[in-house]
Amino acid sequence: MTSLPIASIVPAVFVALVVTFAAPAAAQSGAPAGRPGLAVPTTAAAPAPARFDVEAATQAYLAQIPPAAKARSDAYFEGGYWLTLWDFLYGAALLLALLAFGWSVRMRAMAERLTRFRPLQTMVYWVQYLAITSVLGFPLAYYEGFVREHQYGLATQSFGLWFGDQMKSLLLGAVFGALIVSLLVGVVRRFERTWWIWGAAVTMVVAILGILISPVYIVPLFNDVKPLQDPKVTAPILSMARANGIPARDVFELEESKHSTRVSANVSGFGNTMRISLNDNLLERASLDEIEAVMAHEMGHYVLNHVYKSLMFFFIVIVAAFAYLQWSVNVVLARWGGRLGIRGIGDTAVLPLVMLLMSVFFFVLTPVMNTMVRVQEVEADMFGLNASGRPDGMAKAAVQLSEYRKMSPGPVEEWIFYDHPSGWHRIHAAMQWKAEHLASPEAP
Ligand SMILES: [Zn+2]
Repeated sequence: MTSLPIASIVPAVFVALVVTFAAPAAAQSGAPAGRPGLAVPTTAAAPAPARFDVEAATQAYLAQIPPAAKARSDAYFEGGYWLTLWDFLYGAALLLALLAFGWSVRMRAMAERLTRFRPLQTMVYWVQYLAITSVLGFPLAYYEGFVREHQYGLATQSFGLWFGDQMKSLLLGAVFGALIVSLLVGVVRRFERTWWIWGAAVTMVVAILGILISPVYIVPLFNDVKPLQDPKVTAPILSMARANGIPARDVFELEESKHSTRVSANVSGFGNTMRISLNDNLLERASLDEIEAVMAHEMGHYVLNHVYKSLMFFFIVIVAAFAYLQWSVNVVLARWGGRLGIRGIGDTAVLPLVMLLMSVFFFVLTPVMNTMVRVQEVEADMFGLNASGRPDGMAKAAVQLSEYRKMSPGPVEEWIFYDHPSGWHRIHAAMQWKAEHLASPEAP
């Protein structure tokens, strides 16, 4: 923008105000408003904002979802609330069984027979622990991850592909879990009083490393990832990235159609591994304005530093979790430790108890964790609307997401269970944005 002499700014502001308030009349009569030569031409004039009804527009988008499809996705999403509870209860029962029937103590005894090297004992214990919890947890995991997804028409993958992915996760869990658990047990043994502080610090470092390597080393184990080649799609996205100060050279395409019908995009990693990806379902089924709206949302996560903010929030939660753990483990061991055969907090046989206490902590914290994520998602939605200027693309994308999300929950329901704003909120925000910008003299 060229600099304006002060004298001409005042009339310019005045004209802008006149156009804003006089636009409806001007549009109707076709008469130029304000000073000749500076008026908004009739063809470019915005429709009267009063004529754009945000509530009606929101309802019109929601009405595009057929009643049968709505009933199905509502049932799917509400079933997920119950699964949160069943996962917690089933997991808790399983961990209690490991403690009460002496299985945990036996696994530790076996590890001690195999090797005298203590970190290795912890690793051997961990592999047994992971094997037994995976086998006993399989029925629920199979129902939740495979049967139910097929019942609702969301999965495309064969049993073989699903099971293969499960095995890969298990292997990663065995290798990385063994390292992390033996590290944490080592910390507990080394710092008998202050272990909870050091434990939180180690967990944080592990989380940072995990986020850093995951887009490059973990994600490609499950989905093919490649730079997106279609310039019709990449050109507007990269242009938007440049306009928002994002140093992206590539947009990544994630192969998801072999696994499910879900449309999604994400920002992953940080520092040098930060990348913006969209999946092939989104690419296949969405129009360009939807893709632009979704990618602008993802850029919002980047520009608003959500990865770093989440890590800080996570750090607070982890310190609180370890403080609670230190207190609760001591209470339980003082009372039942002898009967359970657990020697103390430095005994690997304590692991099911630690997992049980942690699962109670995070189960209770479900609404807090969801709200933390949801607040960032609302921010990214706002950023996305401003960066892309595609309110209808945003609303259409929200309708696509209704395949696996309930669109119009109650406020308490949304607060407890939603880690994204509801479809209704997203469409309503997009229509509100549209209404505000129709009122602007610069509206397209
Ligand atoms: Zn998001």
